[in-house]
Amino acid sequence: MNLRCHSMITVPDGVYEFLAAVPDGQYQLPRWVACDLQEDHREGHVGFLQSMGEAEETAWWLAWSGTAGEPTLIQLPYCCEDCSTADACLLPDGHPGRHSSQLITALDLTPGMRLPVYEPSPSR
Ligand SMILES: [Zn+2]
Ligand SMILES: [Zn+2]
Repeated sequence: MNLRCHSMITVPDGVYEFLAAVPDGQYQLPRWVACDLQEDHREGHVGFLQSMGEAEETAWWLAWSGTAGEPTLIQLPYCCEDCSTADACLLPDGHPGRHSSQLITALDLTPGMRLPVYEPSPSR
């Protein structure tokens, strides 16, 4: 299995406000992002933030390191311009690891964990 990286980060207020002011954003801005790269990648983490214009040729990404420092806002084209939409890679050009369509996001469910079940409490 090709799992996705587990790193997550809060979007800095300055980045959020900057992107909120840029016209033509295609998506609702997130307050936090998860790394979109394959797990155990070597370079810094990269998470998708916003894509501009209907053609969506380039996108804004948040880049951060696992150790220290402020996350950085970067603008990069997507990995493959000519990919068919069905398996188009949603990672920035030049990314390490597998393409996004080959990656799996794993849910961190603890073994034995159960979803809460609604049980009406007795009214008497
Ligand atoms: Zn990562
Ligand atoms: Zn790719």
